[in-house]
Amino acid sequence: MLELHTPVQYVKGIGPRLAEVLASKGMSTVEDLLYYLPFRYEDRLNPRRIGELRPGEMASVIAEVRTSALFRTKSMPLFELTVGDPVIGKESPHLISPQADETTVGRPRLFGAGPRAMLKCIWFHGTYLKDRFQPGQLVVLYGKVEVSKMGRERLQLINPQFEILGEKDGDAPEAIAESTEIGRIVPIYESAGSGKVTSRWFRRVIHGALENLTPDVVDAIPDAVRRRMGLMPRREAFRLAHWPEESARLENLLAARTPAQVRLIFEELFFLELGLELKRKHMRALSGIAFRIDDRVREAIKRILPFHPTTAQKRVLKEIADDMRQPAPMRRLLQGDVGSGKTIVALEAAIIAIENGYQAALMAPTEILATQHYLSARRILEKAGYRIVLLTGSVEEGRKRDIRRHIAQGNAQLVIGTHALIVEKVEFGNLGLVIVDEQHRFGVMQRLKLMKKALAEEEQSTVDGQRSTAATRSADVAAGPQDLQPDTLVMTATPIPRTLALTLYGDLDVSVLNEMPPGRTPIVTRRVGDERSDDVFAFVRKQVAAGHQAYVVYPVIEENEEKGVKAATKMYAEIRRRILPDLRIGLLHGRLDAEQKDEIMRRFQAGEIDVLVSTTVIEVGVDVPNVTVMVIEHAERFGLAQLHQLRGRIGRGAAKSFCILVTGGKVTPEAEQRLDTMVHTTDGFEIAETDLQLRGPGEFFGTRQAGLPGFRVANLIRDQELLEAARREAAAVISGCDREISQPEVSRALVHLRSHWQRRYGLVEVG
Ligand code: ADP
Ligand code: MG
Repeated sequence: MLELHTPVQYVKGIGPRLAEVLASKGMSTVEDLLYYLPFRYEDRLNPRRIGELRPGEMASVIAEVRTSALFRTKSMPLFELTVGDPVIGKESPHLISPQADETTVGRPRLFGAGPRAMLKCIWFHGTYLKDRFQPGQLVVLYGKVEVSKMGRERLQLINPQFEILGEKDGDAPEAIAESTEIGRIVPIYESAGSGKVTSRWFRRVIHGALENLTPDVVDAIPDAVRRRMGLMPRREAFRLAHWPEESARLENLLAARTPAQVRLIFEELFFLELGLELKRKHMRALSGIAFRIDDRVREAIKRILPFHPTTAQKRVLKEIADDMRQPAPMRRLLQGDVGSGKTIVALEAAIIAIENGYQAALMAPTEILATQHYLSARRILEKAGYRIVLLTGSVEEGRKRDIRRHIAQGNAQLVIGTHALIVEKVEFGNLGLVIVDEQHRFGVMQRLKLMKKALAEEEQSTVDGQRSTAATRSADVAAGPQDLQPDTLVMTATPIPRTLALTLYGDLDVSVLNEMPPGRTPIVTRRVGDERSDDVFAFVRKQVAAGHQAYVVYPVIEENEEKGVKAATKMYAEIRRRILPDLRIGLLHGRLDAEQKDEIMRRFQAGEIDVLVSTTVIEVGVDVPNVTVMVIEHAERFGLAQLHQLRGRIGRGAAKSFCILVTGGKVTPEAEQRLDTMVHTTDGFEIAETDLQLRGPGEFFGTRQAGLPGFRVANLIRDQELLEAARREAAAVISGCDREISQPEVSRALVHLRSHWQRRYGLVEVG
């Protein structure tokens, strides 16, 4: 019998070598294997006849090989296969048409339309297929049906996926092979790297694993929750998610909405939310600082304001101030699109802390951004006499020591820095407020790291029955001597759709800046091919002549990084020498050292540079209102979120601004959609939604490996409703108020959570 925790190599058909392949894909136990769900299903119960296929549809066909040949064309080798509707013999009884006429007993009618219905399949570069097919073989083909260019009314599949039925492979007994391939709804798996680990290999191995799976599979979801959600037993769910019953509807399967799939998805989301809920509960129990907000504090805030705040800024400040007044620590997310004016709100909150005799810390994801914040904080706060310091990784050691001492003694009232502040464990005299400026996905990653860490500590403390001191530190910055938890304000410019925000920021209250500061003219976005380069730079020259500045952004720093792609350093030289020799050109990229970067930014800000040639280092937070043009070269190579962030650097002043997306090279259909979205809207939420649709959550937040919620079965876009339900049920479990849920059930769920999270999200080393 296999248990869920049994290592995969005990599953029939998996030897040590294949176990290694699976391990590299994150599958080391039977449970991991069972969570490897099919990415689609094929109805091989009622196969279609070739004559029934329609151009334009995705279809799977069971057919018989007639001829095959390899052609060498001028450009590439082509493999061509022709197939026809199968002639049924006794060895393939499943292919009898369900509509078979009862009167033709003993001579089952074929479902094919006879030998004339033919389908052509073509594989580009198909040399590898040379000896694969024999006439008379049955094959399953899946692909998009197209009309052949050659003969009218001939249909064809280009590069279809295929399986040869009845082909022996591996150790699967003949009987299993037969029953797992045909005559039912068949699961199709993504193959995993090595040649042998194909869809059909998974099919057989998982089939075997399910047959030998122990009858008592542990289910850690409390009874009442199971009942309310109508969840089927876990073991049954595994079985049916892989091997649906004949009666299952294909469209439900493809939409992941059969009861079996729903059960597995809900489970994954439930434990995620359970972890978040636990963290929320823990946070609520901590004691924080009750800041006083009186007329004196209000006056101090008014004094620093360089402009009239927008209604949204006023509302958000009030939400923050109300939190800060409370004795429980504030945990608030401030969400606002690029340019919505988050910085001033952050500084106002800082004033509240400082006027109460506490220190405030403002952390930014990059040095450039930290420096920007430092400069604007000084501009706004210093004349009122506040003491501000900047601490980043590149500050020289001796100076760092001085700054740290200032901070420890409480002299520095506002401390601005990169996350080096976290890394270097700065000690504060009496820290009252931590502001984390995350800006965009970069910060989301950071946040997930912190979230995982906090969760691990959480679990640790539940286990030990005592509160871990590390967990009481806000954003890991050491708290003051009174050991009161500082307030936390997290700022993000990622317009995250609501349900995603619930997951990523589920432990925070949310404020939204949904109004742009006045006096902005909307940005005009245009898209041009790079054959119009001369016009683009002529336009830049005109804007500079009118007293403005420009950014020109490139995807790479050096020429040699990628062939055929314009690089910042090379183009900088080119622009300076040939294209705009009479203008003052600067160069900014990530490989300059911090001092050089600062110097360039300072000169640009001071108007001593007209055109700043740059890479995406400027994508985050840089604020120079006099810039009215942003040229993005090779715009087809940038992600949507990135383009939006980049564009957010302009349109910050009163003058009309222009974003010019220059394409140079092949524009894929997806890139086409991205550029289109950019031209048509500047709404961050709309752009984020499109981005999410185009890329899926994994990519949306950056690379998968970087510690994202790497869900096994859930999909945050598709499963929003289940996520909400999971959140509700998790809250019921943690609150302890639900009388239908017993204490042992709660403990069991928490124990499961611990092992689940630890194994799944790699928390072992932290907890
Ligand atoms: P972000 O939300 O992207 O951090 P910033 O705080 O950098 O935005 O603000 C963008 C620009 O708008 C800055 O130049 C800032 O000085 C200006 N700004 C912010 N709020 C207002 C306001 N209420 N009135 C006028 N200008 C404002
Ligand atoms: Mg900002």
